[in-house]
Amino acid sequence: MRRIVLLVAFLYLVWRILSSWGKKMNARARGAEHFSRFTPRHKKRQEKTEAEELLLCSVCGTHVPASSLVEGPERRLCCSEECLKRLRAEQERFSAGGDEGD
Ligand SMILES: [Zn+2]
Repeated sequence: MRRIVLLVAFLYLVWRILSSWGKKMNARARGAEHFSRFTPRHKKRQEKTEAEELLLCSVCGTHVPASSLVEGPERRLCCSEECLKRLRAEQERFSAGGDEGD
């Protein structure tokens, strides 16, 4: 019986020490989660940088953020619906065989 009481006291002591360590480490490392690559905050920042990557519009040659590009036929990228229409019109004219009567 005495052994059990000693064991419980010992375990309690160990638990106290470990929990105080944990608190200390938590206090010291507060904010460290912001540097983790798996936190939403970091993901958000990454999305932002991806959105700010500039790509060339294949119709008018304007640099536009990749997020606002419209994918046209043959995977060509357009900056706007207007450019997409122009691209489609050009391709329709081209596929019609250049049959321009004027
Ligand atoms: Zn364009």
